[in-house]
Amino acid sequence: MSSRLRATAASLVALSAAGVLAGTTLTTQAQATTPAAADGLPIKAEAPVVHLRDQRFGIDSRRYVVEGDIGLDEAGVQAYAARRIEIAQAVLADPDSEKQGLLGIERDGRTLRWRPGTTLTYAVVRASFADSAEYEQVVADMAAATAAWQSICGVAFAHLPAKDDDDGLELGDVTFPVLRRHLGGSTVALAFFPGDAPPERIVWAFDAYFGGGFDPVGVLRHELGHVLGFRHEHIRPSAPTLFSPESVAHTVEITEYAMTTLKDRYGDDITIHGPTDMAHRGGVLSFAFRDLHPHDVSQVLDQHNVCIRAGHHCAKPLMRLLGAAATARASFYVYNDRDDVDALADALGGASDIFGL
Ligand SMILES: [Zn+2]
Repeated sequence: MSSRLRATAASLVALSAAGVLAGTTLTTQAQATTPAAADGLPIKAEAPVVHLRDQRFGIDSRRYVVEGDIGLDEAGVQAYAARRIEIAQAVLADPDSEKQGLLGIERDGRTLRWRPGTTLTYAVVRASFADSAEYEQVVADMAAATAAWQSICGVAFAHLPAKDDDDGLELGDVTFPVLRRHLGGSTVALAFFPGDAPPERIVWAFDAYFGGGFDPVGVLRHELGHVLGFRHEHIRPSAPTLFSPESVAHTVEITEYAMTTLKDRYGDDITIHGPTDMAHRGGVLSFAFRDLHPHDVSQVLDQHNVCIRAGHHCAKPLMRLLGAAATARASFYVYNDRDDVDALADALGGASDIFGL
């Protein structure tokens, strides 16, 4: 372990305490593995560090990755940990202090946003890509992802293709360049927040972006959300921690059982949204059942003492993508077992009876 990483042990303990690093599995260029902190506390988390380099722009920095895709330098990670603990303590003291609405990036207590009507320009730096296929893909993916945001957010994006091949391009000539960086591991992409200085204003795409494990347009929509100033919902103090140290094996097992059971019982009458591969799923299961409205489904299930949620689940862009106004959503956790899944499957049969299907 380098002395530089050792020096950050205290801040990593703070991050673990804030519940943001524990259990992360991000593969890194340099990792601190379970060192003992000065106060003797073992550090449960590995410290994900990405090495960002680009000769053209003279970029050579190592960043700690928190929340999966937020890259912070050492001062940033310490400020982040301190802020998370501060917020968590404030919410513990007064649960009503937690703000509602979309989470924004803040500086000095003020939410940072681009002024409505602003046009953010970008270049997809062709020379950074392995080949023209990758470059063409990212150009197309960026067009789709920026169009999705542009239609709803009041800020415009403009691709300046002439800058893609501009050898003299400097950071600051466009609002942000999109750069390909060869970096193995599971970190897919990184972006920046409004208020970051030009050296930080880069959207990075890493090897995993091209690995087929994610919807690449979805990845860029997500990253552009950060560019616009939005933060992850799971950092709300009241939200379950993303990188919880507890095992998710049971949740995965029970969700897989639910997928199999519902498909076996109802075949084409049920549409389960999302990936079929459990490696890409959590413990929630959104579905459509025959032609029934999700609210009707939830009402009938309720009569059988099965409680699910119905609606757009605060994911309206996703609903538009699915072509659905709403979905029914069951979720599973440590307290559920296979009997609960069977009760759900039985109760869905009841829905068929009531609606004469
Ligand atoms: Zn993110």
